[in-house]
Amino acid sequence: HLKAEQIGIEKFEYSEIDEVYYYPCLCGDRFEIYKSKLLAGKRVATCPSCSRSAFVITWHTKMSVFHDEVEIEDFEYDEEEETYYYPCPCGDRFEITKQEIMLGEEIATCPSCSLVIKVIYDVEMFIAEQEMPAKIENKATTPLESN
Ligand SMILES: [Zn+2]
Ligand SMILES: [Zn+2]
Repeated sequence: HLKAEQIGIEKFEYSEIDEVYYYPCLCGDRFEIYKSKLLAGKRVATCPSCSRSAFVITWHTKMSVFHDEVEIEDFEYDEEEETYYYPCPCGDRFEITKQEIMLGEEIATCPSCSLVIKVIYDVEMFIAEQEMPAKIENKATTPLESN
């Protein structure tokens, strides 16, 4: 799997107009992450032109105040969305995508309120479990392929 590059937030360029942090990607485009997402605890910046992601080291990495800590097994997984959900006290649901977990993200956010929860999982085990059911004879790495 791809190991996301870890980049300190101070190395990002901040656009006040877009309220987006940018960092140069190898492909020539830029990683981007919205300030609002960072404030919500998200730490994965993505490049719109390629599949690379970057893991942002922020003040939040150490300072997040979590509503709760929940094991990944307690989340409900939606295969179509490839997203894990967990009920939020506000009535909506916390969400974290499979991709974010693979990249090391451990914060699930609620789209309706400002609460965040910490997701407890072992990333090595998580990746192993993801790879186990997959047929690796063809070493197909295109997740879009489905019947
Ligand atoms: Zn790129
Ligand atoms: Zn909520």
